[in-house]
Amino acid sequence: MPGGLSRGRIPEGADMGRSSTQRGGAVTPGRTAADSPPGYPRYRAEPGGRLVLAGVDPGQTEHYRKKKEVLKELETQRRRIRDLQERLYAENRQGLLVVLQAMDTGGKDGTIKHVFGGVNPQGCRVSSFKAPNPEEANHDFLWRYHKSAPARGRIGIFNRSHYEDVLVVRVKGLVDENVWRERYALINEFERNLTRNGIRVLKFFLHVSKDEQKRRLEARLADPDKRWKFSKNDIRERAFWDDYQAAFEDAINECSTEHAPWYVVPANKKWYRNLVVARTIADTLEAMDPRFPPAERGLENVTIPD
Ligand code: AMP
Ligand code: MG
Repeated sequence: MPGGLSRGRIPEGADMGRSSTQRGGAVTPGRTAADSPPGYPRYRAEPGGRLVLAGVDPGQTEHYRKKKEVLKELETQRRRIRDLQERLYAENRQGLLVVLQAMDTGGKDGTIKHVFGGVNPQGCRVSSFKAPNPEEANHDFLWRYHKSAPARGRIGIFNRSHYEDVLVVRVKGLVDENVWRERYALINEFERNLTRNGIRVLKFFLHVSKDEQKRRLEARLADPDKRWKFSKNDIRERAFWDDYQAAFEDAINECSTEHAPWYVVPANKKWYRNLVVARTIADTLEAMDPRFPPAERGLENVTIPD
């Protein structure tokens, strides 16, 4: 059975310490490749299960204790992403959509910087979503996201996403409950459509504690180079912490599917968060098995004229 998050419990020892270098059919004894969803199965919200967010410790880091211990491993994962992305681009048959969601200061920007830092910008695009502008607001809610979905051969990164339309929209009462409730099914259909068309969807909730958010907001205020990131609105939003957690919990439970799973990433430690996200993406890309297209026939005898 895949070991995912269920009822807030982390299955004990699930995939603990599985080496990312166990590739090419070699898997942990007792597990088969088919058993094992890519990446960190322990953090995957089990499709059809009921995850309790409060049961997931945002501060956990497996056996790692400090950043130094994961730097090499992170670099390995980044290199895997870079190499696999090259194949994905050359193959031009499948794409990947990475969705990043979090509370304010949860680390969406930092994750993008540290996980995708080495990827060829030609094959990857980041789309950030703020409150809809008037044109976007005049369309169906998925319009702007669909327009930014990656093409085959590309990796798309959503910094905030269609999930805002069941998160902030719900918490702030921007539409009626019957409207946002129906959106879970519409989102599942949207993601199924992408999947059916060769675009894999991977979703990460960067899970930080309320205390950690306070520390990060304080750090932003204290550092002149970070102050631009601070908005008084962050304090207003923080007051709705519990409502947001409930909205995230429902969104994750309603929309974690086999084809488009949610991962709840312990994100109090930035270095651990980066590792979990990077490895999950690398494993997913590897499972997609992108291949360089075959070379044209008859190249053996080709010489380049002077
Ligand atoms: P930031 O990412 O900090 O620049 O903030 C972007 C803001 O846009 C956040 O306060 C989001 O809640 C808000 N936002 C993003 N998507 C939506 C949406 N679909 N409807 C309303 N507000 C949104
Ligand atoms: Mg912000």
